[in-house]
Amino acid sequence: MKIILLGAPGAGKGTQSKFITEQYGIPQISTGDILRKAVREGTEIGKMAKSYMDQGKLVPDDVIIEIMKARLNEPDCSKGYILDGFPRTLKQAEKLESIAQIDVVINIEVSTESLLERLTGRRSCPKCGAVYHIKFNPPPEDGKCKCGGELYQRDDDREETVRKRLETYRTQTEPLIEYYSSKNLLKSVDGNKTPTEVFQEKF
Ligand code: ADP
Ligand code: ADP
Ligand code: ZN
Repeated sequence: MKIILLGAPGAGKGTQSKFITEQYGIPQISTGDILRKAVREGTEIGKMAKSYMDQGKLVPDDVIIEIMKARLNEPDCSKGYILDGFPRTLKQAEKLESIAQIDVVINIEVSTESLLERLTGRRSCPKCGAVYHIKFNPPPEDGKCKCGGELYQRDDDREETVRKRLETYRTQTEPLIEYYSSKNLLKSVDGNKTPTEVFQEKF
């Protein structure tokens, strides 16, 4: 099964990916996680990507497409995968078609006010990739992940950058809804419900 999760920043793509991975045993491929790892490791791609990410802009298509071509060729992808945060532009979607045949695109719909609250309250674990929310999904212990990792707030989850990212989403990614709808691949889900409810409704 090859699934694309579509939705604005903060819609719950990462959260739903973890559920799907557990239930179906297919890997979550998050371009955001791949880029943040490259930034932490100080690679050439990481250095270049950081300036875009800090501004709430998209990293150039060619870079992302090269990363994904390599990633989707790895053995753990043979039985399928969940794409979380890719494609994000029409060009990426068109390229993806020559790499893989997608079974379904799930579009998670969430109101703009909720997106702001979700992103600014998000806390992430650098060690295992778990995602928490200070109000909606608090960690077992203040500031600590269940794996023991020290939780942090992503640089781009500060309000100013969040607004920019939402704008980027509207102009560059939202057209993908129509694109996949016209290919009869799109299913929409009401993402304003609890994580478990969203999962049960669609997966
Ligand atoms: P969120 O899940 O909050 O939407 P991500 O972790 O997916 O955020 O992405 C963080 C940042 O990484 C984006 O703002 C963008 O700069 C970059 N990025 C991630 N995926 C892509 C992509 N497919 N194309 C271009 N840039 C991307
Ligand atoms: P995305 O990957 O789409 O950017 P995340 O899965 O990282 O979104 O979720 C963004 C924030 O919102 C996280 O702090 C997460 O814990 C929280 N969250 C995710 N789904 C829900 C939900 N259904 N209701 C409330 N909060 C949620
Ligand atoms: Zn952790």
